[in-house]
Amino acid sequence: MLLMCLIFSILAAVGNNDVIKMENQMVDETIFSKIIRKEIPADVVYQDELVTAFKDINPRAPIHILIIPNKLIPTLNDLVDEDERAMGRMFTVAKKIAQDAGIAEDGYRLIVNCNVHGGQEVYHIHMHLVGGKPLGPMLVN
Ligand code: AMP
Repeated sequence: MLLMCLIFSILAAVGNNDVIKMENQMVDETIFSKIIRKEIPADVVYQDELVTAFKDINPRAPIHILIIPNKLIPTLNDLVDEDERAMGRMFTVAKKIAQDAGIAEDGYRLIVNCNVHGGQEVYHIHMHLVGGKPLGPMLVN
């Protein structure tokens, strides 16, 4: 514990903000934190005090938007009760973006991958909003 505090103090002292402390564990920031803070370019389509939404850099459908909490939560497994507002907001923002994009009536899919078996690549919770064409079966055997 003492060693962890020492390491964290040193990182803070040298201005390294790529590592933050969460519930007594060190958590690596991802590129998504930089997008939230507008430190790197992204096609942001929505932002409020709880969530940010931007176009996926490698779209798998005509509409492919990522909706993320502004708070760094690595995976669904790390959720705590206080995150419920942000998680709920992600759904209402998905609905709004789908309506604005004109795909609400035809339909769309929301996907949240978790950890290795879920195919998660970026460890900052994100909801994929995909649509704009028939998406086929949910899972490929
Ligand atoms: P997942 O596999 O669920 O973790 O999805 C991660 C998604 O993030 C992928 O669809 C990537 O194309 C997307 N992605 C990674 N880096 C960026 C970025 N800089 N801007 C927008 N989307 C990104």
